[in-house]
Amino acid sequence: MSKYILALDQGTTSSRAIIYNTDAQPIATEQKEFKQIFPKPGWVEHNPIEIWESQLKVARDVIIKSKIRPENIAGIGITNQRETTVVWNRETGQPIYNAIVWQDRRTSKYCENLKSKNLEATFSSKTGLVLDSYFSGTKINWILNNVDGAKEQAMNGELAFGTIDTWLIWNLTNGKNHITDASNASRTICFNIHTMEWDQELLDILEIPRSMLPEVKDSSGKIALATELIYKKIYPITGIAGDQQAALFGQMCTDTGMAKCTYGTGCFLMMNIGDKPVPSKNKLLTTVGWKINGKTTYALEGSVFMGGATIQWLRDGLKFFKDVAESESLATSINSTDGVVVVPALTGLGAPHWNPDARGTIVGITRGTTSAHITRAALESICYQVNDVLSTMSKDKGSNIQELRVDGGATANNFLVQFQSNISSIDVLRPINHETTALGAAYLAGLGVGLWQMEELKTKWQIDTKFIPNMTREDADKHNELWLKAVERSKNWAS
Ligand code: ADP
Repeated sequence: MSKYILALDQGTTSSRAIIYNTDAQPIATEQKEFKQIFPKPGWVEHNPIEIWESQLKVARDVIIKSKIRPENIAGIGITNQRETTVVWNRETGQPIYNAIVWQDRRTSKYCENLKSKNLEATFSSKTGLVLDSYFSGTKINWILNNVDGAKEQAMNGELAFGTIDTWLIWNLTNGKNHITDASNASRTICFNIHTMEWDQELLDILEIPRSMLPEVKDSSGKIALATELIYKKIYPITGIAGDQQAALFGQMCTDTGMAKCTYGTGCFLMMNIGDKPVPSKNKLLTTVGWKINGKTTYALEGSVFMGGATIQWLRDGLKFFKDVAESESLATSINSTDGVVVVPALTGLGAPHWNPDARGTIVGITRGTTSAHITRAALESICYQVNDVLSTMSKDKGSNIQELRVDGGATANNFLVQFQSNISSIDVLRPINHETTALGAAYLAGLGVGLWQMEELKTKWQIDTKFIPNMTREDADKHNELWLKAVERSKNWAS
Protein backbone atom coordinates (compact mmCIF):
# COMPACT_ATOMS: atom_id res chain seq x y z
CA MET A 1 0.00 0.00 0.00
CA SER A 2 1.34 3.47 -0.96
CA LYS A 3 2.02 5.84 1.88
CA TYR A 4 2.08 9.63 1.71
CA ILE A 5 3.23 12.59 3.79
CA LEU A 6 1.17 15.76 4.08
CA ALA A 7 3.29 18.88 4.58
CA LEU A 8 1.64 22.03 5.90
CA ASP A 9 3.67 25.15 5.09
CA GLN A 10 2.20 28.11 6.93
CA GLY A 11 4.06 31.15 5.51
CA THR A 12 3.89 34.90 6.05
CA THR A 13 1.64 35.61 3.07
CA SER A 14 0.02 32.26 2.32
CA SER A 15 -0.85 28.83 3.69
CA ARG A 16 0.24 25.90 1.56
CA ALA A 17 -0.24 22.14 1.66
CA ILE A 18 1.73 19.59 -0.36
CA ILE A 19 1.37 15.82 -0.59
CA TYR A 20 4.59 13.82 -1.05
CA ASN A 21 4.77 10.21 -2.19
CA THR A 22 7.11 7.55 -0.80
CA ASP A 23 9.90 8.82 -3.08
CA ALA A 24 9.51 12.25 -1.44
CA GLN A 25 8.21 13.65 -4.74
CA PRO A 26 5.43 16.25 -4.53
CA ILE A 27 2.24 15.00 -6.19
CA ALA A 28 -0.22 17.80 -5.38
CA THR A 29 -0.07 21.35 -4.02
CA GLU A 30 -2.67 23.83 -2.79
CA GLN A 31 -2.10 27.41 -1.69
CA LYS A 32 -4.23 30.20 -0.25
CA GLU A 33 -3.21 33.76 0.51
CA PHE A 34 -4.56 35.58 3.54
CA LYS A 35 -4.91 39.14 4.70
CA GLN A 36 -1.99 41.25 5.90
CA ILE A 37 -3.13 43.74 8.52
CA PHE A 38 -1.18 47.01 9.03
CA PRO A 39 -2.89 48.89 11.89
CA LYS A 40 -0.11 51.49 12.25
CA PRO A 41 3.29 52.19 10.68
CA GLY A 42 5.64 49.39 11.74
CA TRP A 43 2.81 47.14 12.95
CA VAL A 44 1.98 43.89 11.12
CA GLU A 45 -0.77 41.49 12.18
CA HIS A 46 -2.59 38.39 10.92
CA ASN A 47 -5.96 37.05 11.97
CA PRO A 48 -5.15 33.71 13.70
CA ILE A 49 -8.56 32.29 12.78
CA GLU A 50 -7.92 33.09 9.11
CA ILE A 51 -4.51 31.42 9.37
CA TRP A 52 -6.07 28.26 10.80
CA GLU A 53 -9.00 28.21 8.37
CA SER A 54 -6.82 28.82 5.30
CA GLN A 55 -4.39 26.11 6.41
CA LEU A 56 -7.22 23.66 7.04
CA LYS A 57 -8.82 24.45 3.67
CA VAL A 58 -5.65 23.86 1.63
CA ALA A 59 -4.94 20.66 3.59
CA ARG A 60 -8.40 19.31 2.85
CA ASP A 61 -8.29 20.49 -0.79
CA VAL A 62 -4.90 18.94 -1.48
CA ILE A 63 -6.04 15.56 -0.13
CA ILE A 64 -9.03 15.66 -2.47
CA LYS A 65 -6.97 16.96 -5.42
CA SER A 66 -4.32 14.25 -5.03
CA LYS A 67 -7.02 11.56 -5.11
CA ILE A 68 -5.18 9.58 -2.45
CA ARG A 69 -7.08 7.74 0.26
CA PRO A 70 -6.78 9.83 3.42
CA GLU A 71 -5.97 6.73 5.47
CA ASN A 72 -2.77 6.41 3.40
CA ILE A 73 -1.37 9.59 4.92
CA ALA A 74 1.36 8.23 7.16
CA GLY A 75 2.19 11.51 8.87
CA ILE A 76 1.82 15.28 8.85
CA GLY A 77 4.79 17.67 8.82
CA ILE A 78 4.34 21.29 9.85
CA THR A 79 6.58 24.22 9.00
CA ASN A 80 5.73 27.82 9.73
CA GLN A 81 6.58 31.49 9.65
CA ARG A 82 8.68 31.86 12.77
CA GLU A 83 8.34 34.13 15.84
CA THR A 84 4.80 35.25 14.96
CA THR A 85 2.91 35.30 18.25
CA VAL A 86 -0.61 34.15 19.14
CA VAL A 87 -2.21 34.30 22.61
CA TRP A 88 -5.54 32.59 23.17
CA ASN A 89 -7.97 31.60 25.89
CA ARG A 90 -7.50 27.95 26.87
CA GLU A 91 -11.21 27.51 27.67
CA THR A 92 -12.75 28.99 24.52
CA GLY A 93 -9.81 28.52 22.13
CA GLN A 94 -10.37 32.12 20.98
CA PRO A 95 -7.36 34.38 20.38
CA ILE A 96 -7.43 37.46 22.62
CA TYR A 97 -5.60 39.57 20.02
CA ASN A 98 -4.46 39.26 16.40
CA ALA A 99 -1.24 37.36 15.69
CA ILE A 100 1.67 39.79 15.96
CA VAL A 101 3.86 39.01 12.96
CA TRP A 102 7.67 38.63 13.11
CA GLN A 103 8.07 41.79 11.00
CA ASP A 104 6.19 43.90 13.58
CA ARG A 105 8.36 46.60 15.23
CA ARG A 106 6.01 47.77 18.00
CA THR A 107 8.20 46.47 20.80
CA SER A 108 11.40 48.18 19.58
CA LYS A 109 11.26 50.76 22.38
CA TYR A 110 10.72 48.06 24.97
CA CYS A 111 13.79 46.24 23.61
CA GLU A 112 15.80 49.47 23.87
CA ASN A 113 14.56 49.84 27.42
CA LEU A 114 15.76 46.32 28.31
CA LYS A 115 19.11 47.05 26.66
CA SER A 116 19.50 50.21 28.74
CA LYS A 117 19.21 47.98 31.82
CA ASN A 118 22.20 46.02 30.48
CA LEU A 119 20.10 42.93 29.85
CA GLU A 120 21.18 42.23 26.27
CA ALA A 121 24.02 39.90 27.26
CA THR A 122 21.67 37.94 29.56
CA PHE A 123 19.33 37.30 26.64
CA SER A 124 21.97 36.61 24.00
CA SER A 125 24.10 34.30 26.13
CA LYS A 126 21.09 32.14 26.99
CA THR A 127 19.10 32.24 23.75
CA GLY A 128 21.73 32.82 21.03
CA LEU A 129 19.58 35.68 19.70
CA VAL A 130 19.92 39.46 19.80
CA LEU A 131 17.48 41.52 21.86
CA ASP A 132 15.13 42.61 19.08
CA SER A 133 11.40 43.05 18.54
CA TYR A 134 11.60 40.35 15.85
CA PHE A 135 11.34 37.55 18.44
CA SER A 136 8.19 36.42 20.26
CA GLY A 137 8.94 37.26 23.92
CA THR A 138 8.46 41.02 23.79
CA LYS A 139 5.35 40.54 21.63
CA ILE A 140 3.79 38.35 24.36
CA ASN A 141 4.65 41.07 26.90
CA TRP A 142 2.91 43.65 24.69
CA ILE A 143 -0.29 41.59 24.44
CA LEU A 144 -0.39 41.01 28.21
CA ASN A 145 0.08 44.73 28.89
CA ASN A 146 -2.28 46.05 26.22
CA VAL A 147 -5.27 43.73 26.03
CA ASP A 148 -7.87 44.41 28.72
CA GLY A 149 -7.69 41.85 31.53
CA ALA A 150 -5.01 39.79 29.78
CA LYS A 151 -2.43 40.05 32.53
CA GLU A 152 -4.83 38.81 35.18
CA GLN A 153 -6.09 35.98 32.99
CA ALA A 154 -2.50 34.98 32.28
CA MET A 155 -1.67 34.95 36.00
CA ASN A 156 -4.70 32.71 36.56
CA GLY A 157 -3.42 30.24 33.96
CA GLU A 158 -6.28 30.98 31.57
CA LEU A 159 -4.16 31.96 28.55
CA ALA A 160 -1.94 30.01 26.18
CA PHE A 161 0.85 31.34 23.99
CA GLY A 162 2.02 29.77 20.78
CA THR A 163 4.01 30.36 17.65
CA ILE A 164 2.09 29.35 14.52
CA ASP A 165 3.04 25.65 14.74
CA THR A 166 1.59 25.55 18.27
CA TRP A 167 -1.58 27.36 17.20
CA LEU A 168 -2.16 24.97 14.29
CA ILE A 169 -1.55 21.89 16.44
CA TRP A 170 -3.86 23.20 19.17
CA ASN A 171 -6.59 23.44 16.52
CA LEU A 172 -5.72 20.20 14.72
CA THR A 173 -6.00 18.35 18.05
CA ASN A 174 -9.12 20.23 19.19
CA GLY A 175 -7.27 21.86 22.09
CA LYS A 176 -5.78 18.64 23.38
CA ASN A 177 -2.12 19.45 22.68
CA HIS A 178 -0.30 22.64 23.63
CA ILE A 179 3.13 21.90 22.18
CA THR A 180 5.92 23.28 20.02
CA ASP A 181 9.24 21.93 18.78
CA ALA A 182 12.72 23.01 19.85
CA SER A 183 13.44 24.94 16.62
CA ASN A 184 10.38 27.16 17.09
CA ALA A 185 10.97 27.49 20.84
CA SER A 186 14.47 28.77 20.11
CA ARG A 187 12.97 31.83 18.33
CA THR A 188 10.95 33.11 21.29
CA ILE A 189 13.87 34.66 23.23
CA CYS A 190 12.50 32.86 26.33
CA PHE A 191 14.15 29.50 25.59
CA ASN A 192 17.59 28.57 26.90
CA ILE A 193 19.39 26.79 24.05
CA HIS A 194 22.00 25.34 26.43
CA THR A 195 19.61 23.71 28.92
CA MET A 196 16.91 23.29 26.22
CA GLU A 197 14.25 24.55 28.63
CA TRP A 198 12.17 27.67 29.10
CA ASP A 199 14.31 30.07 31.12
CA GLN A 200 12.71 31.37 34.33
CA GLU A 201 15.01 34.41 34.60
CA LEU A 202 14.08 35.56 31.09
CA LEU A 203 10.38 34.87 31.71
CA ASP A 204 10.56 36.98 34.89
CA ILE A 205 12.19 39.87 33.03
CA LEU A 206 9.53 39.71 30.29
CA GLU A 207 6.74 39.20 32.89
CA ILE A 208 5.45 36.07 31.17
CA PRO A 209 3.83 33.41 33.41
CA ARG A 210 5.35 29.97 32.80
CA SER A 211 1.84 28.48 32.55
CA MET A 212 1.30 30.17 29.16
CA LEU A 213 4.07 28.28 27.44
CA PRO A 214 3.78 25.12 25.36
CA GLU A 215 5.61 21.89 26.08
CA VAL A 216 8.73 21.62 23.91
CA LYS A 217 8.95 18.44 21.83
CA ASP A 218 11.41 16.94 19.37
CA SER A 219 11.16 18.13 15.75
CA SER A 220 10.54 14.60 14.49
CA GLY A 221 8.77 11.61 16.03
CA LYS A 222 5.27 10.76 17.22
CA ILE A 223 4.38 14.25 18.39
CA ALA A 224 0.57 14.47 18.46
CA LEU A 225 -2.59 13.14 16.82
CA ALA A 226 -4.61 15.41 14.56
CA THR A 227 -8.32 14.68 14.87
CA GLU A 228 -9.79 17.71 13.13
CA LEU A 229 -8.29 17.46 9.65
CA ILE A 230 -10.75 15.57 7.48
CA TYR A 231 -13.52 12.97 7.92
CA LYS A 232 -12.82 12.94 11.69
CA LYS A 233 -10.01 10.47 11.03
CA ILE A 234 -6.85 10.47 13.12
CA TYR A 235 -3.55 11.48 11.53
CA PRO A 236 -0.22 11.51 13.36
CA ILE A 237 1.73 14.76 13.42
CA THR A 238 5.32 13.56 13.11
CA GLY A 239 7.41 16.59 12.08
CA ILE A 240 7.63 20.27 13.09
CA ALA A 241 10.21 22.96 12.32
CA GLY A 242 10.37 26.70 11.76
CA ASP A 243 10.64 27.62 8.07
CA GLN A 244 14.37 28.31 7.80
CA GLN A 245 15.26 25.25 9.87
CA ALA A 246 12.93 23.14 7.72
CA ALA A 247 14.72 24.47 4.61
CA LEU A 248 18.09 23.51 6.13
CA PHE A 249 16.75 20.00 6.71
CA GLY A 250 15.04 19.94 3.29
CA GLN A 251 18.47 20.67 1.77
CA MET A 252 19.80 17.73 3.81
CA CYS A 253 22.41 19.91 5.48
CA THR A 254 22.57 17.31 8.21
CA ASP A 255 26.33 17.30 8.78
CA THR A 256 28.38 19.93 10.60
CA GLY A 257 29.63 22.66 8.27
CA MET A 258 26.91 22.21 5.65
CA ALA A 259 25.07 25.40 4.72
CA LYS A 260 22.09 26.56 2.70
CA CYS A 261 21.00 29.91 1.35
CA THR A 262 17.46 30.78 0.30
CA TYR A 263 17.42 33.59 -2.30
CA GLY A 264 13.98 35.18 -2.08
CA THR A 265 13.07 38.79 -1.36
CA GLY A 266 15.93 38.68 1.15
CA CYS A 267 18.58 35.97 1.45
CA PHE A 268 18.51 33.61 4.40
CA LEU A 269 21.62 31.69 5.29
CA MET A 270 21.90 28.86 7.74
CA MET A 271 24.79 26.63 8.62
CA ASN A 272 24.70 23.40 10.59
CA ILE A 273 27.19 23.77 13.46
CA GLY A 274 26.65 20.39 15.10
CA ASP A 275 25.83 19.59 18.70
CA LYS A 276 27.31 22.70 20.38
CA PRO A 277 25.71 26.16 20.34
CA VAL A 278 28.75 28.17 19.20
CA PRO A 279 28.08 31.85 19.99
CA SER A 280 28.68 34.36 17.17
CA LYS A 281 31.23 37.12 17.63
CA ASN A 282 29.62 39.04 14.78
CA LYS A 283 25.98 39.28 15.80
CA LEU A 284 24.83 36.32 13.76
CA LEU A 285 22.19 34.24 15.51
CA THR A 286 22.81 30.87 17.11
CA THR A 287 19.68 28.81 17.03
CA VAL A 288 18.30 25.29 17.28
CA GLY A 289 18.26 23.56 13.89
CA TRP A 290 16.25 20.59 15.09
CA LYS A 291 16.01 18.08 17.90
CA ILE A 292 15.68 14.45 16.89
CA ASN A 293 15.72 11.48 19.27
CA GLY A 294 16.58 13.88 22.08
CA LYS A 295 19.72 15.09 20.28
CA THR A 296 19.96 18.77 19.39
CA THR A 297 21.60 20.09 16.23
CA TYR A 298 22.43 23.80 16.28
CA ALA A 299 22.74 26.30 13.45
CA LEU A 300 24.17 29.74 12.78
CA GLU A 301 21.86 32.10 10.96
CA GLY A 302 22.38 35.33 9.06
CA SER A 303 20.32 37.24 6.55
CA VAL A 304 20.62 39.80 3.79
CA PHE A 305 17.80 42.36 3.56
CA MET A 306 17.96 43.08 -0.19
CA GLY A 307 18.25 39.84 -2.16
CA GLY A 308 15.85 39.30 -5.06
CA ALA A 309 14.22 42.58 -4.01
CA THR A 310 17.21 44.35 -5.60
CA ILE A 311 16.16 42.94 -8.98
CA GLN A 312 12.53 43.87 -8.32
CA TRP A 313 13.74 47.41 -7.74
CA LEU A 314 15.53 47.44 -11.12
CA ARG A 315 12.27 46.27 -12.68
CA ASP A 316 9.82 48.53 -10.83
CA GLY A 317 11.93 51.52 -9.77
CA LEU A 318 14.34 51.87 -12.70
CA LYS A 319 12.13 50.14 -15.32
CA PHE A 320 15.12 48.26 -16.79
CA PHE A 321 12.95 45.28 -17.78
CA LYS A 322 9.43 43.91 -17.46
CA ASP A 323 10.31 40.53 -15.99
CA VAL A 324 13.05 39.81 -13.42
CA ALA A 325 14.08 36.78 -15.51
CA GLU A 326 15.34 39.20 -18.19
CA SER A 327 18.04 40.34 -15.77
CA GLU A 328 20.07 37.26 -16.70
CA SER A 329 20.29 37.90 -20.45
CA LEU A 330 20.94 41.59 -19.83
CA ALA A 331 23.75 40.81 -17.37
CA THR A 332 25.37 38.26 -19.66
CA SER A 333 25.16 40.54 -22.72
CA ILE A 334 28.44 42.03 -21.40
CA ASN A 335 31.57 40.40 -19.98
CA SER A 336 31.97 42.45 -16.83
CA THR A 337 30.53 45.41 -14.96
CA ASP A 338 33.56 47.45 -16.08
CA GLY A 339 34.17 48.50 -12.50
CA VAL A 340 30.58 49.40 -11.63
CA VAL A 341 29.56 48.22 -8.13
CA VAL A 342 26.03 48.39 -6.74
CA VAL A 343 25.59 48.32 -2.94
CA PRO A 344 21.86 47.68 -2.42
CA ALA A 345 21.78 49.13 1.10
CA LEU A 346 18.30 50.50 0.43
CA THR A 347 17.24 49.83 4.01
CA GLY A 348 20.68 49.88 5.62
CA LEU A 349 23.19 47.04 5.90
CA GLY A 350 22.79 43.97 8.11
CA ALA A 351 25.30 41.25 9.01
CA PRO A 352 28.25 41.57 9.19
CA HIS A 353 28.40 45.34 8.51
CA TRP A 354 25.49 46.35 10.78
CA ASN A 355 25.13 49.88 9.48
CA PRO A 356 21.47 50.96 9.57
CA ASP A 357 22.37 54.38 8.14
CA ALA A 358 24.00 52.96 5.01
CA ARG A 359 22.07 53.72 1.81
CA GLY A 360 22.02 52.36 -1.73
CA THR A 361 25.11 53.33 -3.69
CA ILE A 362 26.27 52.86 -7.28
CA VAL A 363 29.97 53.59 -7.81
CA GLY A 364 32.32 53.43 -10.79
CA ILE A 365 29.86 54.88 -13.32
CA THR A 366 31.40 56.24 -16.56
CA ARG A 367 30.02 57.48 -19.90
CA GLY A 368 30.06 53.88 -21.07
CA THR A 369 27.81 52.58 -18.27
CA THR A 370 24.50 51.06 -19.40
CA SER A 371 21.56 49.34 -17.75
CA ALA A 372 23.37 46.06 -18.49
CA HIS A 373 26.32 47.06 -16.29
CA ILE A 374 24.07 48.13 -13.45
CA THR A 375 21.97 44.97 -13.73
CA ARG A 376 25.04 42.75 -13.71
CA ALA A 377 26.43 44.67 -10.73
CA ALA A 378 23.09 44.33 -8.91
CA LEU A 379 23.04 40.55 -9.39
CA GLU A 380 26.65 40.39 -8.24
CA SER A 381 25.79 42.48 -5.17
CA ILE A 382 23.40 39.78 -3.96
CA CYS A 383 26.29 37.30 -4.08
CA TYR A 384 28.76 39.65 -2.37
CA GLN A 385 26.34 40.17 0.50
CA VAL A 386 25.78 36.41 0.87
CA ASN A 387 29.54 35.91 0.73
CA ASP A 388 30.07 38.40 3.56
CA VAL A 389 27.69 36.42 5.77
CA LEU A 390 29.25 33.09 4.72
CA SER A 391 32.73 34.35 5.59
CA THR A 392 31.46 35.54 8.96
CA MET A 393 29.94 32.13 9.65
CA SER A 394 33.20 30.42 8.77
CA LYS A 395 35.04 32.75 11.16
CA ASP A 396 32.54 32.10 13.98
CA LYS A 397 32.65 28.37 13.42
CA GLY A 398 36.41 28.30 12.92
CA SER A 399 36.27 26.30 9.70
CA ASN A 400 35.52 26.94 6.04
CA ILE A 401 32.27 26.04 4.36
CA GLN A 402 32.90 23.45 1.63
CA GLU A 403 29.74 23.82 -0.39
CA LEU A 404 26.55 25.84 -0.40
CA ARG A 405 23.11 24.45 -1.20
CA VAL A 406 20.74 27.02 -2.64
CA ASP A 407 17.02 27.50 -3.21
CA GLY A 408 14.45 30.29 -3.61
CA GLY A 409 13.07 32.19 -6.62
CA ALA A 410 16.26 34.01 -7.60
CA THR A 411 18.25 30.77 -8.01
CA ALA A 412 16.48 30.38 -11.37
CA ASN A 413 19.15 32.88 -12.48
CA ASN A 414 22.18 30.83 -13.56
CA PHE A 415 24.44 33.87 -13.76
CA LEU A 416 23.71 34.67 -10.13
CA VAL A 417 24.37 31.15 -8.87
CA GLN A 418 27.59 30.84 -10.91
CA PHE A 419 28.82 34.18 -9.61
CA GLN A 420 28.13 33.03 -6.05
CA SER A 421 30.32 30.01 -6.68
CA ASN A 422 33.05 32.21 -8.19
CA ILE A 423 33.12 34.88 -5.53
CA SER A 424 32.94 32.46 -2.59
CA SER A 425 35.28 29.93 -4.26
CA ILE A 426 32.95 27.08 -3.33
CA ASP A 427 30.74 24.59 -5.11
CA VAL A 428 27.13 25.72 -5.17
CA LEU A 429 24.46 23.03 -5.45
CA ARG A 430 20.96 23.68 -6.72
CA PRO A 431 18.51 20.82 -6.08
CA ILE A 432 15.73 19.65 -8.40
CA ASN A 433 13.11 20.31 -5.76
CA HIS A 434 13.11 24.06 -5.01
CA GLU A 435 10.39 23.83 -2.36
CA THR A 436 12.87 22.97 0.33
CA THR A 437 10.86 24.38 3.25
CA ALA A 438 7.85 22.11 2.75
CA LEU A 439 10.18 19.28 1.73
CA GLY A 440 12.06 19.65 5.02
CA ALA A 441 8.81 19.36 6.97
CA ALA A 442 7.92 16.27 4.92
CA TYR A 443 11.37 14.73 5.54
CA LEU A 444 11.02 15.32 9.30
CA ALA A 445 7.53 13.81 9.27
CA GLY A 446 8.54 10.78 7.19
CA LEU A 447 11.50 10.21 9.46
CA GLY A 448 9.29 10.60 12.54
CA VAL A 449 6.80 7.98 11.42
CA GLY A 450 9.49 5.54 10.26
CA LEU A 451 8.61 5.87 6.55
CA TRP A 452 12.21 6.91 5.82
CA GLN A 453 15.56 6.56 7.55
CA MET A 454 18.14 9.35 7.71
CA GLU A 455 20.61 7.70 5.31
CA GLU A 456 17.81 7.04 2.85
CA LEU A 457 16.75 10.70 2.97
CA LYS A 458 20.23 11.75 1.90
CA THR A 459 19.75 9.77 -1.31
CA LYS A 460 16.33 11.33 -1.91
CA TRP A 461 17.80 14.83 -2.04
CA GLN A 462 18.55 15.29 -5.76
CA ILE A 463 20.83 17.76 -7.38
CA ASP A 464 19.78 19.71 -10.49
CA THR A 465 23.01 21.62 -11.21
CA LYS A 466 26.38 21.83 -9.51
CA PHE A 467 28.10 25.19 -10.06
CA ILE A 468 31.89 24.98 -9.80
CA PRO A 469 34.05 28.13 -9.47
CA ASN A 470 35.45 29.29 -12.80
CA MET A 471 37.30 32.30 -11.37
CA THR A 472 40.69 32.08 -9.67
CA ARG A 473 40.89 32.79 -5.92
CA GLU A 474 43.13 35.74 -6.77
CA ASP A 475 40.47 37.28 -9.02
CA ALA A 476 37.77 36.57 -6.45
CA ASP A 477 39.85 38.40 -3.83
CA LYS A 478 40.20 41.42 -6.12
CA HIS A 479 36.45 41.49 -6.75
CA ASN A 480 35.73 41.21 -3.02
CA GLU A 481 38.15 44.03 -2.25
CA LEU A 482 36.40 46.33 -4.69
CA TRP A 483 33.05 45.38 -3.20
CA LEU A 484 34.19 46.13 0.35
CA LYS A 485 35.55 49.49 -0.84
CA ALA A 486 32.13 50.32 -2.26
CA VAL A 487 30.45 49.16 0.98
CA GLU A 488 32.56 51.72 2.87
CA ARG A 489 31.24 54.48 0.56
CA SER A 490 27.64 53.48 1.31
CA LYS A 491 27.98 53.55 5.11
CA ASN A 492 26.47 56.26 7.34
CA TRP A 493 24.94 58.10 4.37
CA ALA A 494 21.65 58.74 6.17
CA SER A 495 23.17 59.84 9.47
P1 ADP B 1 9.75 35.16 -1.46
O1 ADP B 1 9.46 33.80 -0.93
O2 ADP B 1 10.60 36.02 -0.58
O3 ADP B 1 8.55 35.88 -1.99
P2 ADP B 1 10.74 33.83 -3.88
O4 ADP B 1 11.53 32.65 -3.46
O5 ADP B 1 9.39 33.61 -4.49
O6 ADP B 1 10.70 34.92 -2.74
O7 ADP B 1 11.65 34.63 -4.95
C1 ADP B 1 11.22 35.86 -5.47
C2 ADP B 1 12.41 36.80 -5.57
O8 ADP B 1 13.36 36.27 -6.50
C3 ADP B 1 12.00 38.16 -6.10
O9 ADP B 1 12.60 39.16 -5.29
C4 ADP B 1 12.56 38.22 -7.52
O10 ADP B 1 13.05 39.51 -7.84
C5 ADP B 1 13.69 37.22 -7.49
N1 ADP B 1 13.81 36.51 -8.77
C6 ADP B 1 12.96 35.60 -9.29
N2 ADP B 1 13.40 35.14 -10.48
C7 ADP B 1 14.58 35.78 -10.72
C8 ADP B 1 15.55 35.73 -11.78
N3 ADP B 1 15.39 34.92 -12.84
N4 ADP B 1 16.62 36.53 -11.67
C9 ADP B 1 16.82 37.32 -10.59
N5 ADP B 1 15.95 37.40 -9.57
C10 ADP B 1 14.84 36.64 -9.63
